[in-house]
Amino acid sequence: MIAVLDSTLREGEQTPGVFFDSHVKMAIAEKLDRLGVDIIEAGHPVVGEEIANGLRRIVSSSLQARIGAHSRSLKKDVDLALECGVGFLGIFYCVGDERLRDCSSTLNQAIDMISETISYARSRKSDLLIRYTPEDTVRSPMENVLSVSREAVRAGADIISIADTTGHLIPGSARTMSEWVRRLRASLDHAGLEARIAVHCHNDRGLALANALDGYQAGADIIDASVLGLGERAGITDLASLLAVLSQDFPVAHHWQLAELPGLYQLVSRYADVPIPVNHPICGRNAFTHCAGVHIQAALKNPIHYQSLAPEPFGLTSQIALDHMSGMAALQYSLEHIGAIDLDRELQESILAKVKDVGRHGRTVDVNELRWIVSYQKEKAINKETYVA
Ligand SMILES: [Zn+2]
Repeated sequence: MIAVLDSTLREGEQTPGVFFDSHVKMAIAEKLDRLGVDIIEAGHPVVGEEIANGLRRIVSSSLQARIGAHSRSLKKDVDLALECGVGFLGIFYCVGDERLRDCSSTLNQAIDMISETISYARSRKSDLLIRYTPEDTVRSPMENVLSVSREAVRAGADIISIADTTGHLIPGSARTMSEWVRRLRASLDHAGLEARIAVHCHNDRGLALANALDGYQAGADIIDASVLGLGERAGITDLASLLAVLSQDFPVAHHWQLAELPGLYQLVSRYADVPIPVNHPICGRNAFTHCAGVHIQAALKNPIHYQSLAPEPFGLTSQIALDHMSGMAALQYSLEHIGAIDLDRELQESILAKVKDVGRHGRTVDVNELRWIVSYQKEKAINKETYVA
């Protein structure tokens, strides 16, 4: 069964300008838990006391999800994370040639140091879920990554994460996540080692979700994501889009409470001060809104004509909206939809003129506002008649 690791509180807080107070972190963690993510990566405690405190607070609330911390390959990072009570530890260290050179280290020295840190963490907590990430995996020599991964598993790592740290991969090209997953799996199998494979995809080329799904189809066991795709630079895989595709388009057994997504996005958006784009899949204001005349006509008969993803699993419904481009046909379908029938042509034209007027000011008219406009224009027409008489 595919597992999802949410990193809104760790990677997401690395978004420039984003900071979550501990009580907000707690509220976000509770919502993520209700949604049903498997692991909540909630910070890198050595970065600051408030991060460590937030982590402790989340750990103490006994959520269903495993609560995890990030850790450099250093015992003091491991110690602090364990002191915070985490059940998951993500240890990272890059084994790219240039990085090793910059650290005046050889591959073997790096492998020894990483193995020692993992063994230490394992010795301190036997049921700790340990992930090792060769940071910038996909731009590091594959042989380095495969060697260090085998040794990490031998030292006690349960998960190896393939990190596309710079959003470098492109599905279907010469550099794909699926190739990395297959090669890593084959290398572990060949050595008689068992570990879960995670994929961590950055969105620098707008391909994080595509790469994550590419990894999933090649057999990855865990996918990292965050609310609104928050993270360093262009962020990482967007959680809502990922869960939508996995739950609706793949035969994935899951326990996700998808209707929690819109509220979770509003919560994170508000406290991260990052607006939800109107065209964000699932949680954007326009995601299930039909506007063009022919679309409204078809969608009111049967939404499937212009929807391949239904809003209901996410606790949402299809909406119609009118704007400056709307014509009489779209208006008439919308009027029928709200039960405003038998309006004379002149009244319909006055309603359409008002709708277009609102649209020209950069807003759409939803069904509620349309009801108000109808009643206002009706009233106006009656008063006019009275006045004329
Ligand atoms: Zn990252």
